[in-house]
Amino acid sequence: MDLRPVSRIETDVLIVGGGAAGVAAAVTAARQGVRVVLAERYGFCGGGAVAGLSGTVCGLYEASDTANAPRQVVFGFADEFVRALDARGGLAPPVRYGKTHTRVHDPVMWRETADAFLRDQSITVVFHAVAVGAHVEGRDAVGGAILWSKQGPIDVRARVTIDASGDADVVAMAGLPNFIGDNGRVQNPTMIFRLMGVDVDRFLAAHGDDTIMGPAVSEMIRAANESGKYRLPRAKIWLFTTTRPGELLCNCTRVVGPDGRELNPLFHADFTDAEIEGRRQMREYERFFRDHLAGCEKAFVNDTGVQVGVRQTRQIEGVKKLANTDVVKGTKFPDGIARSPWPIELHSGEKPRVEWLMNDVYEIPYQCFVPARGQNLLAAGRCLSAEHEAVASARVTAQCFSYGHAIGHAASIAVKERISPRAIRGEDLRAVLNRDGARLD
Ligand SMILES: Cc1cc2nc3c(=O)[nH]c(=O)nc-3n(C[C@H](O)[C@H](O)[C@H](O)COP(=O)(O)OP(=O)(O)OC[C@H]3O[C@@H](n4cnc5c(N)ncnc54)[C@H](O)[C@@H]3O)c2cc1C
Repeated sequence: MDLRPVSRIETDVLIVGGGAAGVAAAVTAARQGVRVVLAERYGFCGGGAVAGLSGTVCGLYEASDTANAPRQVVFGFADEFVRALDARGGLAPPVRYGKTHTRVHDPVMWRETADAFLRDQSITVVFHAVAVGAHVEGRDAVGGAILWSKQGPIDVRARVTIDASGDADVVAMAGLPNFIGDNGRVQNPTMIFRLMGVDVDRFLAAHGDDTIMGPAVSEMIRAANESGKYRLPRAKIWLFTTTRPGELLCNCTRVVGPDGRELNPLFHADFTDAEIEGRRQMREYERFFRDHLAGCEKAFVNDTGVQVGVRQTRQIEGVKKLANTDVVKGTKFPDGIARSPWPIELHSGEKPRVEWLMNDVYEIPYQCFVPARGQNLLAAGRCLSAEHEAVASARVTAQCFSYGHAIGHAASIAVKERISPRAIRGEDLRAVLNRDGARLD
């Protein structure tokens, strides 16, 4: 029960969630002249990239066996945001990540860059607001959401609602079809942390410039575990130098329960355990790095993400589902509205599995964002309709920007033409995106 007065907002487009997808969708829709409200549970945008400290923009560059300079293959809003972040000094040059490259970002400047984009378009941003209910009219038409705020409930009525919550919260609250991972099994969360006081030159000289640490480091981790002096559940780890001097961004923990099961942050008990276990592992890796990695002898943890990093939870059941084979074969679709060169990077079991797509991209069709049932609702971001391994590729930041770019356009078209988003042809949306810099063809 909440007896406080209800505030009311009417808008054309409501976006729940201010991660990469939500920000891109909000800015794109507002640029088309429709009214936009963006609701975000934290006091800043960035989601997994910032609150989860995922820390790098993956998915911009083609994978290749040659040592050539990285070839960028994703443009549109992703490119625009990355350039704006770079201009602030918040983005490091491309660094090697196995057979491809990624770019490390400053999480504070990410927030400021998003603030600037949103303010430029006069978007109504409601920070510290959590969507706690969906308005469902008739059988399955979604007409907005109820937000929880410190002031009291906010009743937002919208002609189109975009679920960019990462967790398909709105879809689930509206009772529309959704699913969880591989028969309920999701990829493990990771507590990412920042290590300061690193002698970066000595670290790079000893361990090389590939951010995926080589077999020598994995061997050291295994040996340390066998010695019984450390408990390090993941031997294949990623360590990134950043825009800040003396800092490493550490993607190394593997947050599982005592029974070895990947914890699923949709469940409150798992989410709580993941935070506590993530912090425990963070200290264990910090100790190991100080004792064993060159340049890290005096290093210390500066901070962790605001929350444990969540790779996968609930996804929408879409009109179409991106298949694992689409990713590995580089499938193109006439209604493809985004493209990805990123490998499958499956964090499940003892060792992350990376499966490369070489010198190619695959495309993601519009209908992966259109719920199988329900009107006036679209999804954007990592909660797209995709199989378990496919989402282990399709969830990275550059692609989430691209999905938001496409879905922001789709929402504004639906509002202006007074049609349901499912009536929009993906082929037409693709043409709109090409005119708006996405370079899909
Ligand atoms: C450990 C880890 C490492 C990763 N490493 C990389 C990497 O190096 N490079 C890369 O590109 N990608 C990486 N990723 C993936 C990437 O960070 C995410 O998949 C991507 O940021 C997802 O963007 P999104 O907009 O779909 O969702 P999210 O970033 O999850 O954003 C959803 C937003 O919605 C908000 N929200 C959720 N529910 C509600 C609600 N009910 N009401 C209001 N607001 C709500 C959240 O606070 C959040 O801000 C990593 C992910 C993890 C977990």
